[in-house]
This record gives sequence, structure tokens and C-alpha cells, in this order.
Amino acid sequence: MQEISSYNFRGKRALVRVDFNVPIDKGTLKVIDDTRIKAASTTIRHILDSGGSVVLISHLGRPKGSLNKRFSLKNILKSVSDVLGVEVHFTDDCIGDEAFKISSKLKPGQVLLLENVRYYKEETIGAESFAEALSKHGDVFVNDAFGTAHRAHASTTVIAKHFPNAKMFGFLIKGEIENVDRLLNSEEKPSTAIVGGAKVSSKIIIIERLIDIVDNLIVGGGMAYTFVKSAGGKVGNSLVEEDYIETAKKIRLLAKRKGVKLYIPIDSVIADSFKNEANIAETMIDKIPDGWMGLDVGPKTIKECSKIISKSRLILWNGPMGVFEMDNFKHGTLGVANAIVSATSKGSFSLVGGGDSVAAINKFGLSHKVSYVSTGGGAMLEYLEGKELPGIKAIKS
Ligand code: AMP
Repeated sequence: MQEISSYNFRGKRALVRVDFNVPIDKGTLKVIDDTRIKAASTTIRHILDSGGSVVLISHLGRPKGSLNKRFSLKNILKSVSDVLGVEVHFTDDCIGDEAFKISSKLKPGQVLLLENVRYYKEETIGAESFAEALSKHGDVFVNDAFGTAHRAHASTTVIAKHFPNAKMFGFLIKGEIENVDRLLNSEEKPSTAIVGGAKVSSKIIIIERLIDIVDNLIVGGGMAYTFVKSAGGKVGNSLVEEDYIETAKKIRLLAKRKGVKLYIPIDSVIADSFKNEANIAETMIDKIPDGWMGLDVGPKTIKECSKIISKSRLILWNGPMGVFEMDNFKHGTLGVANAIVSATSKGSFSLVGGGDSVAAINKFGLSHKVSYVSTGGGAMLEYLEGKELPGIKAIKS
């Protein structure tokens, strides 16, 4: 494994696996949030400024091996150019003749963006031949896609073996690893994790692991209602995963056994339909009338969470507290964000990770006021869980 900051890129074509899986507006097909592009720009600019050229590989969405315009990386071409401040070339088949023709003629300072690698089903199954074909685009491989480091895909993992003496992490992955390690290895106390988002089912493993790591665990967002129902509360039409009611009960017991304080929201902002203009009221979270649904945590919960967060030395936040995309239901998420910002300003270490928390903190313009914003969603969570990520192992081994 080489080190990006000391590697000599002069005259080399660097094949850089980035995570440009950015949110795209379904109507206009424009980029809604370019955080991930900006996050990878340090690595790309470093290579260009060091006299190299860059071939960018990424996926976008889940086209499942078929051509679907909605998932074309052409949709993000302008954003990539704008962020990098250079013209970016594009090819509409990542391993087509045209793509190899352009990549072989790249001059120092030039950038080529390849079409979505997931247009080939070979990407996600980690096909050897596909990885080998992609590897022909570069002299050196740089993996800067932390967001997909937990997948053993062709362009994230299998490809690395074609660069035994020229493979390395980009600055983004290095930063992710260093910051998550800081959270895991710090002795500072108390530590608090705030886990929100839509569903218990997608966060269950991380919640179980966090119980081993933190002192306080705050549960918010849609998944809180499964916890409330599991304790016999009335949640009306709120989002509930019936299959996870038993799991929620087990998590309560596990937290108790391990001495972790588990905080479930006390009150809720409820609506009579899933829209910003719905009729809105506030209730205790376990007394939601039929026909109403909880779309945000209420003021009492915000106050309690803020108190816990303000006393925490280490803070991890994944997942919004409510439907923050709608203005009337953003206050819980904003309250948590403000509390984290305030704790950070007093010297606490805060890590915000997971796609929607990142979108939320960006929306509120607060991302520069927390210690670190991870762009690595599921991969960051798996790394926190202690798993060895295939994309990281492939570079290290
Ligand atoms: P996740 O990707 O699991 O972190 O979920 C994020 C999504 O959860 C966001 O789009 C939120 O709008 C949604 N969400 C948060 N709170 C609720 C809620 N109370 N009911 C329904 N969806 C919610």
C-alpha cells in the first residue's frame, strides 16, 4: 500500500474510485446535494496539482445492471466540473472502446468521468473480468469511496489486485478511518449516540453495537414509534415495523443490562397526513390519536436530548429525528444539530454520519461547526461495528 501524500503522480493516470452517489432531483435530474463530490475533491485536486490525470469511477443509485437515464453520471457532470474547476470529460460506457480511447490519451491535469459502473451487473457481483477491464484505465488505483468500502464490488475491491505496487487510499477514506478510530478509541466520557431515521430494521445492528460503546443512546425519528408501541404506547398511524416490536423490547433489556441509558422521545409533533401542510398538533408520544402520525419529536424531547448532548464529550449522530425535509417537522432534527454544535464549541468531539443526517446538517448550514461529517453512511456504520471492510482490506493487503 502506498501513501497518497508522498506518491509521485507526475505523468501518471490515476484511476480514482469515488462515491458520487449523490441525491438527484427526480424531475430535473439535477444534483440536490454535492457534499460527496466536494468531499472527494481534495484527492482529485491533489493528483491533478501533482502532475497526474484522473479517471473517475463511481456508481449512482441502483440501476441493477440496466441502462436508466435517471442513474446516469452525466446528470452530475456539471457539478463535478464546477466543484473541481476544470472541464470534465465523460464517456457513456465505462468499459467501451471510446472510454479506453479517451483515457489512454488523457494529459496531466485532465479528468475523465466514466458512466455508472452499476450499469453492468458485473460490478455488484464483483466479476473478475469487469474489474480487470476497468483497471486498464489507470496506472495507479486510488480508493476514495468510503461509502462503498463495505461492498466487495468489482470497482471497490476486486480491482485493487491489478495494482499490487500502486494502490492507496484517498484523503477522504483516510479522514473517515482516522475520525471513526478517534471515536472508538477515546477514553473520554460520557459518550452519546443519537440514532434516528425511518426504520429500526436498517439500524438494528448498529444500535446493538452502540450499546457496547456508548453511555447514552438516544433513539429518534420514525423508528422511535416501534419502541413506543413495544412498551404499550398508542402511536396512531405512525410508522411502525410490527416485525421489530420484539426486537425493540430486546434492545431495551440489553441497554438496561449493559448500563446504557436509552432515551426514547417523550412527546411528538403529529399530523393528520404525511405532508407539510397537514393539520398539526403536539402530544405525548404514547398517546397519539388514531388517524394521526408522529412526524417529529416534540419540544420536551428536544429539551431533554439537548441536555444530554450538552454534557457529552463524545457524540455520534446518525439519522434525523423527524421528517426534516418538511419545514414543519424539522425542529427536532435542528434542535439536535444545535445541541451538537454547542457541545462541539465547548471542546466535545462530534461525528455526524449517515446520508440523511449529513443532508440535514448541510441544510441547516451547520456542517462546519461539528468535528467531522462522515460521507460514508452504511460503510461508516459497519466500520464502527468493528467489521473489516473489503474495500479497505483490498488496499491494505
Ligand atoms: P434513514 O435513511 O433510515 O436514516 O431515514 C431517513 C428518513 O427518515 C428521512 O427521509 C426522514 O424523513 C424519515 N423520517 C424521520 N422521522 C420520521 C417519522 N417520524 N416518520 C416517517 N419518516 C421519518
